Formats: sequence, structure tokens, C-alpha cells
Amino acid sequence: MTQPPRTPAGRGGAGRREQRSARRRGPVRCVVTAVSRPTPRTVRVEIAGLAGVEPTGPDQRVTLAFPTGRTFGTDPAEAAAARRRRRTYTLLDLDPETGSAAIEFVVHGAGIAGPWAQQAQPGDELDVTGPIGRFDLDADAAEHVLICDETGIPAARAILRGRTAGMRVRVYAEVSDAAERVDLGLRAEEGTGSPVTWLERGARAPGEAMAALVGEVRCEPSAQVWVAGEASAVRALRTHLVAELGLERRRVTAVAYWTAGHAEGDPASGRPGEHD
Ligand SMILES: Cc1cc2nc3c(=O)[nH]c(=O)nc-3n(C[C@H](O)[C@H](O)[C@H](O)COP(=O)(O)OP(=O)(O)OC[C@H]3O[C@@H](n4cnc5c(N)ncnc54)[C@H](O)[C@@H]3O)c2cc1C
Repeated sequence: MTQPPRTPAGRGGAGRREQRSARRRGPVRCVVTAVSRPTPRTVRVEIAGLAGVEPTGPDQRVTLAFPTGRTFGTDPAEAAAARRRRRTYTLLDLDPETGSAAIEFVVHGAGIAGPWAQQAQPGDELDVTGPIGRFDLDADAAEHVLICDETGIPAARAILRGRTAGMRVRVYAEVSDAAERVDLGLRAEEGTGSPVTWLERGARAPGEAMAALVGEVRCEPSAQVWVAGEASAVRALRTHLVAELGLERRRVTAVAYWTAGHAEGDPASGRPGEHD
């Protein structure tokens, strides 16, 4: 698979860069080829139809538009309805030659995308616009800290695949319970503890376990930190990292993936991906 050239920095460095959207064009009609359940609360949907679409980075996001039924059919009203049924997701394992890719949906019991994924079957259609990537690991950072809830785990896994020998990486990942832990491919080095801290929230609301890291998480001044998850938790962590720990803003990429109490697209939820 052809990877795009990696630029170490855009908009001021430390792995952030100008949004890169290769061959941006209108939505591409894709078809579901396989559905699986990597964990009880995650549905992995394999899709086909993206031949010629180049990857734009490990955290690359796409806008998905969902038909009201299994396919778009020929009724123009269905295309208009799909434009109102759009959500943002991380595009995984994009192969521009075959056009295959995957999306991992957290099932959270409400909305459009989560319920769609729970019902998804091979042959179902969805429209995909993008991708846009924004983040690369910065080889010069003293350490890399990734903090996310389960919506950020797909992107975190893809980011981690890009690490090179000697990079020091720590991950804090909020999940509902132990059954949601996944293999992130990180192993403890001799004499050190596990590089992955699982934050099991139990009865707490999603985002609370991640927000509880405020005041606890420490990192080197020249660390590179990526934060993704519920908007208020992301905002609180970003403030902690920049205002309290004194990290330069350019070293912190903080992305609101969803907003508690608000569907994506609600004016109150802001634009998906804000707080960067
Ligand atoms: C750049 C980017 C990448 C993303 N990548 C992924 C990804 O790879 N996988 C993934 O699962 N999500 C990902 N998300 C998050 C996803 O877009 C949101 O969770 C989205 O709101 C889900 O749409 P929905 O139709 O299921 O729910 P919506 O209709 O948007 O929301 C309905 C209700 O559910 C609540 N809600 C939404 N998401 C959650 C949640 N995770 N847990 C609990 N309650 C929730 C909302 O607050 C609202 O009250 C990403 C978001 C961004 C911005």
C-alpha cells in the first residue's frame, strides 16, 4: 500500500499538520463486505468502493452518510435524507488498490451510526467522503502519550502502528469494562510497567474516567500528546496539559469526538473534531 509522504509538522510542528485530504471529491458509494464484533461494544464493518482513494494519515477521518434502509435505491429523496444522516468516523486499513477499508463503530445505544452498525450486513450501502488526516507521530518528541475513550481506540491503534524503534509511548484508554480491552500492540519494556493504562468506567458516565486523569497524568515538557473522546473530557485534559503542566500548545492535539447529550450535527455539539 502506498503511504503518503510524512511531514513532521504543519501549523507549528510536533506532529500536527495542515489537514491533508488526498483527492478530495464528493461522496463515494461503498458497500459492506463483512461485519464482525471485535469486542461486545464494537462493530467492525469492512467496506469496498474506495479504489484510488489515498490514505491521509493514521487518524484519518471520513464523513459517512447512511441511507434510511439497507441501500440508497433510486429515489432522489433517499439521497437528500442521507445528507441529513451523516457522522464522522476513523477510516482504517484503507487499501487504494483494492478499495477496501474498515470502520469500527462503538455501539452506545442511540443515534444513527451506532444503531446502523448493529444492524449492518454485507450488501448494505453507505456513502463515504474524505479521508482527512491531521496527525503524525513526531520523531523528536521525548515521549508520546495517547489518551482516548473507546471512540478513539481505532485511531490510537493506527497511530501506534506508525511508531518507530525507541519511541516511548504511553496510552490511557477509557473503556466500559474489561471485555472492551483490545491488543494495542504495545509491550512493557524490561523493568518498566505496562505502557497501557485501561480506565474502566463501570457505572460512571462515558468520559468521566478519562476526565479523572486531570491532575493525575504527568508528562515530559517535550512530550507529544494526542487526546480524543468526549468533548468536555477532552477540553479538561487539554487545559490540564497546557495550563497546568505547561506543555506548548503545538505539542497537544486534542480532538472532541462526541459531545455528551448531543447528537453529531446539533449546534450545541460544535463541529466534530473541534478543540484541536
Ligand atoms: C475525527 C473523529 C473520528 C471518530 N472516530 C470514531 C471511531 O472510529 N469509532 C467510533 O465509534 N466513533 C468515532 N467517532 C465518534 C462518533 O462520530 C460519535 O460517537 C457520533 O456521535 C456517533 O454517532 P451516532 O449517530 O451513533 O450518535 P449521535 O446521533 O451523534 O448521538 C446520539 C446520542 O448518543 C450520544 N453518544 C454519541 N457517541 C457516544 C458514545 N461513544 N458513547 C456514549 N454516548 C454517545 C450523544 O451524546 C447523543 O446523546 C469519531 C469522531 C470524530 C470527530
